[in-house]
Amino acid sequence: MSYVIEGKTGSWEIVVGLEVHAQVVSKSKLFSGASTTFGAEPNSQVSLVDAAFPGMLPVINRECVAQAVRTGLGLNARINLESRFDRKNYFYADLPQGYQISQFAHPIVGEGTIEIELSSGETRKIGITRLHMEQDAGKLIHDQDPTKSMVDLNRAGVALMEIVSEPDIREPEEAGAYLRKLRQILRYLGTCDGNMEEGSMRADVNVSVRKAGEPFRTRCEIKNVNSIRFVMQAIEVEAARQVEIWENGGEVDQETRLFDAARGETRTMRSKEDAHDYRYFPDPDLLPLVIEQDWVDALKAALPELPDAKRARFQSDYGIPFYDAGVLVAEQSVADFYETVAKGRDGKLAVSWVTGDLFAALNRTGKTIETSPVSAEALGQMLDLIADGTINGKIAKEVFEDMVETGESPDAIVEKKGLRQVTDTGVIDAAIDAVMAKNADKVAEYRSGKDKLFGFFVGQVMKETKGKANPALVNDALKSKLDA
Ligand code: ADP
Ligand code: MG
Repeated sequence: MSYVIEGKTGSWEIVVGLEVHAQVVSKSKLFSGASTTFGAEPNSQVSLVDAAFPGMLPVINRECVAQAVRTGLGLNARINLESRFDRKNYFYADLPQGYQISQFAHPIVGEGTIEIELSSGETRKIGITRLHMEQDAGKLIHDQDPTKSMVDLNRAGVALMEIVSEPDIREPEEAGAYLRKLRQILRYLGTCDGNMEEGSMRADVNVSVRKAGEPFRTRCEIKNVNSIRFVMQAIEVEAARQVEIWENGGEVDQETRLFDAARGETRTMRSKEDAHDYRYFPDPDLLPLVIEQDWVDALKAALPELPDAKRARFQSDYGIPFYDAGVLVAEQSVADFYETVAKGRDGKLAVSWVTGDLFAALNRTGKTIETSPVSAEALGQMLDLIADGTINGKIAKEVFEDMVETGESPDAIVEKKGLRQVTDTGVIDAAIDAVMAKNADKVAEYRSGKDKLFGFFVGQVMKETKGKANPALVNDALKSKLDA
């Protein structure tokens, strides 16, 4: 067991299960035609269905269902051809219906798995319990008026997928790896933008502790944590709190808690409600949702290549290591960029330019791969110039920096600056002669056995040719002249 908390009564293991709410990418809401665009004027995207006017009827949005099915397929999960919608009843001012339409006993997606990779290089499988569709609620605004609260219903009725994991996670790092991997899969699928700052992905974190080999103990659920870092911190502090309680002879109460990032602690929000408190019952306005296997198969056939498959393909197609392939596929835009550069070229050289020089340049200039001053095509052309001997590897660094600055093509830069590699043996020989004449003493030392001076001569000849000489030719010619 890698991660344990040492208490005075022995070691404790952490048990974590995550419930992730992922906002579905779709133009309109789950049961209405109102728009879902982020950042619109409050209450400008609210249909009568969303505002729960009497007599309004929900109509299921086919695209939202397709997105849930795609996500289930991407999580290697069972797709349930028949699922149902239930009403989850509760009162809150951001929920005009007085209930949320959700899926309780019959979700659209059943068991699946996500494979995560840890910093040790190990991989682990985390079980997915289910994925169900539900409506989001509106948003209360408390800071616009000193005496009143406002409500914005733009978000009311937007489709969410709740993705529930098995209690398979054993440490903060695994929770982080799980969320990153889930977000990556959702982004590749295009079913959720995974943007935690905008709230389109948020996690409820269930935490308990136990002694190794014991059955599970009571858990607490930390609600609505909105960054991966906070999820990891919340697990750490919540587990420590529970260990402290158990070790002092107390009992952990099952409750819903909040994570206060500023104070680095969790606080009671309310005692945990059970399913029966919500009086779930089948929504009488909606028929059971029945989908066809053919439709599921068609959605499956149209799925994009997912990160794990892409990583394996990059390793075999381009001969690059597992680690590098993982860095490249972390974001689809980076993977696409790399593939444009590497296709038909030296894959290893391409990876070192993309994850080395290019990433460094993006960092330095505050740009992203999408706004990169050097296009994938241009970087590819530069690799061609190296491959065909127009420039050497050292000059390539100079050309690249110029590309970052000016956005010009590598050809134009090579011409403009006269950087074409010198392969003319006459020119190289002349440079060598000049260097040897200037350094007669060193030549003598070399000839009397000081082999190490060879590097010095190479450096001087490169300098003499302003770095443009073909290094292999310089090596050969130097050898024969010095050893003559
Ligand atoms: P609810 O619907 O009441 O939130 P669920 O049974 O759906 O409860 O479980 C919610 C989450 O809690 C799941 O992710 C599950 O893996 C996790 N979980 C269940 N038992 C434990 C436990 N003892 N410790 C930590 N997490 C748990
Ligand atoms: Mg729950």
